[in-house]
Amino acid sequence: MRTKVFTLVVALLATWGYGQKQYLQCGHILDVEKGRLQAEKTLVVEGNRILEILDGYQEGGDSDTRIDLRGFTVLPGLIDMHVHIESESSPQTYIKRFTSNPADIAYEAAVYAERTLMAGFTTVRDLGGTGVNIALRKAVDRGLTPGPRIYTAGKSIATTGGHADPTNGRRLDEMGNPGPKEGVVNSPEEGRQAVRQRYKEGSDVIKITATGGVLSVAKNGQNPQFTVEEIRAITQTARDYGMLAAAHAHGDEGMQRAILGGINTIEHGTLMSEQTMALMKEHGVYMVPTISAGKEAARLAEVPGYFPEVVAQKAREIGPQIQNTFSKAYRKGVPIAFGTDAGVFKHGTNAQEFGYMVEAGMPAAEALRAATITNATLLGAGDRLGQLKPGYLADIIAVSGNPLEDVGTLMQMQFVMKDGVVYLP
Ligand SMILES: [Zn+2]
Repeated sequence: MRTKVFTLVVALLATWGYGQKQYLQCGHILDVEKGRLQAEKTLVVEGNRILEILDGYQEGGDSDTRIDLRGFTVLPGLIDMHVHIESESSPQTYIKRFTSNPADIAYEAAVYAERTLMAGFTTVRDLGGTGVNIALRKAVDRGLTPGPRIYTAGKSIATTGGHADPTNGRRLDEMGNPGPKEGVVNSPEEGRQAVRQRYKEGSDVIKITATGGVLSVAKNGQNPQFTVEEIRAITQTARDYGMLAAAHAHGDEGMQRAILGGINTIEHGTLMSEQTMALMKEHGVYMVPTISAGKEAARLAEVPGYFPEVVAQKAREIGPQIQNTFSKAYRKGVPIAFGTDAGVFKHGTNAQEFGYMVEAGMPAAEALRAATITNATLLGAGDRLGQLKPGYLADIIAVSGNPLEDVGTLMQMQFVMKDGVVYLP
């Protein structure tokens, strides 16, 4: 509660244009573009923007604030391209769909959003929930509740019985007949309608479930679930509205259809063949690995009774394969973004993905570049997010030690500023 009052006061001061500047004295600054540390710098923040970066430790004038980060390494706020901010995995996940009202979901989501922000993730892309994620984005933007900047898909788009059909696994008389409005489509025409519905509701991006998935109550975790024509109709309509289109995909055939259908990012990419890796490169499609989710799902599958058996089986089969595929794809030169699928595991532990990426052969500097510059560019915000440069938004974090040598330090966030407001002092 105290931090909430504190952040609210700071947020109000910021909106009222309290004319002072903030001088952040940084022991080191990580230049994520070059992958190099620079020692003894001062970041000057005015309002919600970075004004300039000065050599040495500068103090500013009497009315300016000084923030002492001399013992830390300072870097741009991290970006996670794949979270589900509304929920977090638990043995009650499946029953909660029947017992939670949107207001219940909203209170939980606010907690997860704050935890994500405090973990140094100042921007996230939410790839599917009930639509509460749109309300949360608005609340965060208005300063009503602390959280990262949110780019959200609202509800995912699936086909009937597909991975994001909200009535999967229900009793027959409870299944109803969800359609484009609920994000379930069965033709290119309905695909276009579903995208326009998402736009109307306030989504920023489009997410489809191109193949079966692990956590849905359905038999197959990898079958293709859209035709190329359906995907093309969806991505073309998304483009009309300036929206990026992401595809959840574990199976290879569904991935190929998604790429040929014009999708921008492949989420998970678990069973990606070498041929598909070449196709990803050719079409400039990014892989969002979500290694953390694969590992966590595989671990939870061994906890008796945690998942329904049909889910546990898929989690054992698919979960452990993601890291290996990522390793191969990275070596083949597939474009890589950073995304975790937080919600499948605990919100706020997103940074463990760095460890898994490094373990799979990607240098820390490249993983950090993916989580900053690459992700910001994919979100169409490369000119204001993902780097510490004059004119960029003041999304600034700090950790102890050198994250290029030990990415584990990113799990212990020491300082978080978003939009010029300090959240973790
Ligand atoms: Zn997901």
